[in-house]
Amino acid sequence: MPLATCPRCQKLFNKSDKQVCVNCQAAEEADIEKVRKVVQENPDMSADEVATEADVAVAVVNRMLDAGTIERIGAVELEGITCGRCGAPAISASKKLCEGCLAKLNKEMAQAQANIKLGMRKKAQIGMYSGVQEAKREKKE
Ligand SMILES: [Zn+2]
Ligand SMILES: [Zn+2]
Repeated sequence: MPLATCPRCQKLFNKSDKQVCVNCQAAEEADIEKVRKVVQENPDMSADEVATEADVAVAVVNRMLDAGTIERIGAVELEGITCGRCGAPAISASKKLCEGCLAKLNKEMAQAQANIKLGMRKKAQIGMYSGVQEAKREKKE
């Protein structure tokens, strides 16, 4: 298991699926609950505002965003995050894509999958064909 520094107490701990050490888990979870409540009641707040309102460190809010515990906070959170393909404002901080490129990417992925399937079918047909040829040859000999 990789060692990591606990962001709350700065001690080294075995980083598994948890973002903080064993000693800090209770406190972290309490903070997460507080942040969740604030986000639910104030979906338009920025991470800073949420942290202040919930009385937790802004790092907790950022960890939750990183872990996907909360999808995103307000519109402010996406400020400065642009689409990695065309530079337009991104619709998701984790994907870093704009709406248009996200749709395009999904289409490309579907196309790529279709191509893989097609390639497999072609190979199967070629295999069958050479199989027939071999069978014929065997008969002649
Ligand atoms: Zn800790
Ligand atoms: Zn784009």
